[in-house]
Amino acid sequence: MRKRVLIVGGGPAGMAAALAASKKGADVTLLERRPKPGKKLLATGNGRCNLANRGKLVYFGDGAFAGNVLSVCPPEDVMRQFEAWGLPLYTDPEGRVYPAVQQASSVLSVLTERMKQQGVRLVPNADVTDAVYTRKEYVLTVADGQTYTGDRLILAAGGLAGGGLGNRPQDYALATGLGHHLTPLFAGLAPIELEIGRYKRLSGLRVPAYVTLVCNQHTAAVTAGEVLFTDYGISGICVMQLARKVQTLIGQGRKLEIALDFTPIFYPETRAYSGAVERKPDMYQRTLELLQARQREYRNHYLTGLIPDALAAVCPSGGLEETASFLTSLRLRVSGVRPMQQAQITCGGIDTAEVDPLTMASRLRQGLYFAGEMLNVDGDCGGYNLQFAFASGLIAGKNAAE
Ligand SMILES: Cc1cc2nc3c(=O)[nH]c(=O)nc-3n(C[C@H](O)[C@H](O)[C@H](O)COP(=O)(O)OP(=O)(O)OC[C@H]3O[C@@H](n4cnc5c(N)ncnc54)[C@H](O)[C@@H]3O)c2cc1C
Repeated sequence: MRKRVLIVGGGPAGMAAALAASKKGADVTLLERRPKPGKKLLATGNGRCNLANRGKLVYFGDGAFAGNVLSVCPPEDVMRQFEAWGLPLYTDPEGRVYPAVQQASSVLSVLTERMKQQGVRLVPNADVTDAVYTRKEYVLTVADGQTYTGDRLILAAGGLAGGGLGNRPQDYALATGLGHHLTPLFAGLAPIELEIGRYKRLSGLRVPAYVTLVCNQHTAAVTAGEVLFTDYGISGICVMQLARKVQTLIGQGRKLEIALDFTPIFYPETRAYSGAVERKPDMYQRTLELLQARQREYRNHYLTGLIPDALAAVCPSGGLEETASFLTSLRLRVSGVRPMQQAQITCGGIDTAEVDPLTMASRLRQGLYFAGEMLNVDGDCGGYNLQFAFASGLIAGKNAAE
């Protein structure tokens, strides 16, 4: 008999699930709280939608669970699926996968067009407030009082990250009301707050840098890339990648610092924007020699043209040693991580021990499935989160329809 599949959430995970389930012949109803599906998807990758990554898998929360999901539906399968839906893709030199037209709207158009073709019933403005299982079927109640029934239910309600783009704490109650548990929720891929003091003047400045997270005088993590100064601290992809670790260490009561090394500004060959980042050990000495040489030639103007004027304006006024030290290791105290509204991903979520990664089925309740950010899985920057949302959605949809 044709299965009636209900899906809560018209994000990437819910739409992928709807397409996989309808392809298997299910009668699919997708309920979305907002007037249109895919609002967060449109904001991804700065509007370009970095939808997958061909590199090594980088997942946290339950990374092993994510690995199992992606062994059932690997990144190549997600990409093949998009090409089959009519969306040509492009992979950048770092392995990040985008639609060839570089527009998130093209991804959403392809998904919504396919859903129409495959007969998915999309119900917009449907804020699902309750989910119950009657031993016979699932019954969803929407804020306007309407109810929807189905044999199978897929929860793909996303996470709290992204401010107005995310879901709300009560949306997790759809899962906990059915017996599932939540791990603690906190912001991932978020800017970092620093005791910025006089460096507030740098707000708006973008510079390439190595960013080292220092805990008790030891290196806890190093990233590299473009750093954006703000009036509360720093942002940029390489900074946001440290947010998870910062929150974990702060939670353990550790005192943290960020050390910034600006030398990639004038040694472009040291710029490393992905993969393992290794700072060259001799940068202080190299920089000091560079400054000495420039001072001999340009006297007091040795920094002019070498580093941005805004950075030169906050350089210490002492000798060359002090300047070299500032440029290779500016240390600032970490005061926290920006709130969930400014994060790109929610760390924590539905406890993955209660979900089978091979089918995305609940281990607690028959006929219930999960997909996407709602689960305790978060990926690094670079397409990993959408990749997980699409892969888990495709698996959940296929299995829910069977
Ligand atoms: C600014 C920004 C940029 C990002 N860029 C990238 C990127 O380039 N690459 C990448 O991999 N990841 C990126 N991410 C992360 C990525 O967008 C998410 O991980 C992904 O969207 C998760 O998909 P999802 O379907 O699980 O959840 P969502 O996209 O959040 O979708 C969930 C949907 O469920 C709906 N919903 C929630 N509760 C209910 C309810 N009770 N009733 C009905 N509907 C409900 C919501 O309205 C929403 O439409 C970015 C995130 C942000 C905020």
